[in-house]
Amino acid sequence: MRIQLNYDLHAQNTFRMKVSCACYVEYETVKELEGLNFDRLPKPLLHIGAGSNLLFTGDFPGTVLHSNIEFIKYIDMGLDEVPVMVGAGVVWDHFVAETCRHGLWGAENLSLIPGEVGAAAVQNIGAYGVEAADLISGVVCFDLQERRKVKFSREECRYGYRDSLFKQPEVKGRYVVTSVLLRLTRRHSPRLDYKGVRDALQGAEPQTPQQVRDAIVRIRRQKLPDPEEIGSAGSFFKNPVVSREQFARISPDGTAPHYDLLDGTVKVPAAWLIDRCGFKGAAEGGAAVYERQPLVIVNASGTASPQEVLALEQRIINGVQERFGVTLHPEVEHI
Ligand SMILES: Cc1cc2nc3c(=O)[nH]c(=O)nc-3n(C[C@H](O)[C@H](O)[C@H](O)COP(=O)(O)OP(=O)(O)OC[C@H]3O[C@@H](n4cnc5c(N)ncnc54)[C@H](O)[C@@H]3O)c2cc1C
Repeated sequence: MRIQLNYDLHAQNTFRMKVSCACYVEYETVKELEGLNFDRLPKPLLHIGAGSNLLFTGDFPGTVLHSNIEFIKYIDMGLDEVPVMVGAGVVWDHFVAETCRHGLWGAENLSLIPGEVGAAAVQNIGAYGVEAADLISGVVCFDLQERRKVKFSREECRYGYRDSLFKQPEVKGRYVVTSVLLRLTRRHSPRLDYKGVRDALQGAEPQTPQQVRDAIVRIRRQKLPDPEEIGSAGSFFKNPVVSREQFARISPDGTAPHYDLLDGTVKVPAAWLIDRCGFKGAAEGGAAVYERQPLVIVNASGTASPQEVLALEQRIINGVQERFGVTLHPEVEHI
């Protein structure tokens, strides 16, 4: 276990914000986590993974916790549906890569999503028609309030679109995910509903999850910044949901990309709105809108400050509000 005071968080967030926290705790086992003297740690407490969905807006006055619980345990490889228990500190994509190598289907569409397994269960990460909740059958946590282990079934996790019980304001920060139970399958079951995935496979019918993974990796590398090369936290804004009337004002001829939702509302890609306002490539100091995907704000200079990112965020929100009357909300969690 590592406990350090006045810790530099630069390497702990993929936006590469130069901020620090009063105390940083990295633990290797559940026992170490349970044994921490929480009463003596500077408050508030914040548990992070790889910091790939976070924007630190300044120095953090409390304690940042990070899990190094790293194991992947295949409970019965002989079954068609293979249950796998995974430590919260495992890098999500290492887990996906390993299951693909074993020929197990389920996680391949979620290849290359940054972050760790614990956060994947909190965020209900998703891409290319699949979300983590499709694979999760249970989540094991440490309850910081009652200081005991608790288990949640998939239903109890209340998964929704990029949402879960763990994100609800009444319990946010209370449960530390320590491991996640997922279920993968040996049955040939590629999910190729997204046209881009079929295109990347060049018409071939994939025989292995590895083939789908390779295609997804190719698509993502073309579109998204590699956190190792350029700082970002992925999609910065949520796609707004508007009324039919509002959509008619945004796009009088109805040609703007959109998804009709069951309740009669319409989801509009935030990237399209931002692009239409001419923000592609726009910059505030070292922060810029990514040229290849306007939904992503990047730390283009490598030295962008939180204030520069926030200024660019506000400029985009104001621009989209003025032009389309739509308020964008950040997807990235501001700390
Ligand atoms: C280039 C790029 C592309 C991305 N693409 C996608 C994508 O396609 N789909 C998608 O869904 N997301 C995507 N993301 C967002 C990000 O990868 C996910 O949100 C990911 O799950 C964050 O994982 P993390 O470990 O970095 O968590 P953090 O960003 O560190 O934390 C996220 C949240 O989880 C909480 N948390 C973290 N660990 C634990 C734990 N052990 N117990 C309890 N709470 C915890 C944190 O408090 C925080 O609220 C992308 C990000 C980047 C930078």
